Amino acid sequence: EEYYRRIDTVEPAVQAYAHLTRELAEAQAEAADQRIAQGGDLPLLGVPIALKDLICVEGTRTTCSSRILDNFVSPYDATVVTRLKAAGAVLIGKTNMDEFAMGSSNETAYHHITRNPWDTERVPGGSSGGSAAAVAANECVAALGSDTGGSIRQPASFCGITGLKPTYGRVSRFGLVAFASSFDQIGPMTKSVEDAAILMNVIGGHDAMDSTSANVERPDFTATLDRDLKGLKLGVPKEYFTGGIDPEVLHAVEAGIRHLESLGMERVEISLPHTQYAVATYYILACAEASTNLSRYDGVKYGYRSEAGTLLDMYTQTREEGFGEEVKRRILLGTFVLSSGYYDAYYLKGQKARTLIQQDFEAAYRTCDVMAAPVSPALPFKLGEKLDDPLQMYLSDLYTLSANLAGIPALSIPCGLSQGGLPIGLQLMGPHFDEAMLLNVGHRFQ
Ligand code: GLN
Repeated sequence: EEYYRRIDTVEPAVQAYAHLTRELAEAQAEAADQRIAQGGDLPLLGVPIALKDLICVEGTRTTCSSRILDNFVSPYDATVVTRLKAAGAVLIGKTNMDEFAMGSSNETAYHHITRNPWDTERVPGGSSGGSAAAVAANECVAALGSDTGGSIRQPASFCGITGLKPTYGRVSRFGLVAFASSFDQIGPMTKSVEDAAILMNVIGGHDAMDSTSANVERPDFTATLDRDLKGLKLGVPKEYFTGGIDPEVLHAVEAGIRHLESLGMERVEISLPHTQYAVATYYILACAEASTNLSRYDGVKYGYRSEAGTLLDMYTQTREEGFGEEVKRRILLGTFVLSSGYYDAYYLKGQKARTLIQQDFEAAYRTCDVMAAPVSPALPFKLGEKLDDPLQMYLSDLYTLSANLAGIPALSIPCGLSQGGLPIGLQLMGPHFDEAMLLNVGHRFQ
């Protein structure tokens, strides 16, 4: 009730939620009260959690902030939802997002934009901007987002919260609406690293319902938060500190690195030489995967259906009316790079570049234990500032895309404020399946 009161107060200014799930939440809260009365305990008993609106919850709408799924009600729970429910969580609402998670500003959502709670003239980041804003504005205790190319980390950085993109395969994608299946990962967006560890204990681990889920042991992520950092090697990739980085971002990130050095970590300069190809590689491969994933929205099986007359008209009109501009742009790009005659030149070349980027990380982790870098080259930008310039928007993902291309885990933690009082995030990247290391290092900022 307290959180819904808070939502009623701040939502007119922030608009973090796509829609609320009050009935479900009330039933779950009552069940939690009963369990508490009986002396029972669970890791998230009665804790209000928000979910990005591309995670399926049985009997509630899952819209991806798209017109084409505006009326879609999930017939089943995502695995992360099953696990949250089993842990006693109260699911209070679905958060706004860029349409189908395509974007970095939350401005491509169908119904309304979300504003940054720190400055409502600025974007909260994207695509999990609703989740980040809801956590930052105290409209939930924690939230889940998804990260295909930075969508947990960049909004976490813009809204001054903690966001973890787990290793690809660590968290089940069953019941997560697919954008680019070889990149997508669900992860926690929280007020503290400790909260992220608690959520990872609940949602992480193997799931037979997702064939890409990794069958590796899930450690207790809360157990190692206070390990000593002395002697660990902190890699600083030089390619992440060049070019158009905002001096205020640079200043805060450097201060974060010095803080870790003061705790006994040893700074080592490293190189990830193929970083310059990350943006092109990601946008070729992610669009290719998106174009095939989104072919299922044809007006026949579920979602929006146009009134058009013939079957063919119905297909084309449904997609014309149901998808927004950015989604269409990506379907066109993806279809192009997969078409015969262009497949070898773009898609196959992109896959090769992806391997080179992965090998960069493998080589670098031979000389360091964890890496530190900026999350975003820029501070949270003004609403509308980049909306008409997709290339500018894509370029702002420069520092987050490589972790998805390589499948490694990466954490965004607040490391300072700009002179104007806007939050700045530090990115920590680790070897596959070592989220524990990232949480351990990140915990030293709190
Ligand atoms: N901003 C990136 C994109 O638009 C990443 C999105 C994401 O991680 N879902 O594709």
